[in-house]
Amino acid sequence: ERIVTAHLMMEDQTAELSLRPRYLAEYIGQAQVKDNLKIYIEAAKQRMEALDHVLLYGPPGLGKTTLSNIIANELGVNIRTTSGPAIERPGDLAAILTNLQENDVLFIDEIHRLHRTVEEVLYPAMEDYALDFIIGKGPSARSVRLDLPKFTLIGATTRAGLLSAPLRDRFGVVSRLEFYTEEELAYIVSRTSDLLGVGIIGEASSEIARRSRGTPRIANRLLKRVRDYAQVRGDGIITEDIAHEALERIQVDPMGLDAVDHKMLQAMIANYRGGPVGVDTIAASIGEESQTIEDVYEPYLLQIGFLQRTPRGRVVTPAAYRHLGLPVPDKS
Ligand code: ADP
Repeated sequence: ERIVTAHLMMEDQTAELSLRPRYLAEYIGQAQVKDNLKIYIEAAKQRMEALDHVLLYGPPGLGKTTLSNIIANELGVNIRTTSGPAIERPGDLAAILTNLQENDVLFIDEIHRLHRTVEEVLYPAMEDYALDFIIGKGPSARSVRLDLPKFTLIGATTRAGLLSAPLRDRFGVVSRLEFYTEEELAYIVSRTSDLLGVGIIGEASSEIARRSRGTPRIANRLLKRVRDYAQVRGDGIITEDIAHEALERIQVDPMGLDAVDHKMLQAMIANYRGGPVGVDTIAASIGEESQTIEDVYEPYLLQIGFLQRTPRGRVVTPAAYRHLGLPVPDKS
């Protein structure tokens, strides 16, 4: 597994629970999303109603799950967590919905992967807090409606574009999470260091932040690797030199690119003269899934201006050539 993968890895799972901020005030960055939510949460609490359904989208590791838990916590309600692919049959969803308490939060991760039949159960549940059943067969069949407790659905997805229009339209609040700035990530790194009980100097936090691809999950993971290095090679305190050496050893370059990013850019340059080239072709040439490229690798490379999306495919930019130490081709 790549150290800079934004996907949740085994080692993150238990650790992340203790690192997760629990209140909006502790949730760093995403100012606009937070400001809006603060008002909606306050209003829902005053009216003692369920918060409107919320859709959170953006690349993995940016804090969608964390924010969902914070919303439930701030509302003072329970949260039930599941994911799109985990809900196999309409009956599974019905069971979850009927077990909610008034105003609870239901969090569905990867909501773009819900089965169609399950999605159809969700429509009346979201709109009218009801389940519709068909009882009987043939001419004697009739439809029965079962009322549900009012609840808030929070859906998270890396691919808002893959959501069906009827589902997307049923969310009252749609928020996109952005990549974090270096300052925000440095703050997250020093906060995590405090929680882990390890000393770190400011410059070292920034060094880790710079190489974290705008993603808190990666920042926390890199910090843990650097901590190990500091413990074994230094005296336990993370200095700028220690951070630098440790990050060089795990082959995360100063922009946060790892060996796989390099391989992808190099392949595009060597085999397709820097593009335009389609995602499927890129995927095949480096042995990755197209979906992984679109969800995980590409968003950050687009964000930092190393890749450009054109109607004819992806193009490597001059900035990327310069970063790789290669001459920028004259395409005219
Ligand atoms: P996602 O659901 O978008 O994949 P998570 O919510 O699981 O991302 O976030 C990954 C980790 O990053 C969390 O465990 C948390 O420690 C950290 N994190 C995410 N967002 C923030 C934030 N705004 N402030 C502090 N830590 C954060």
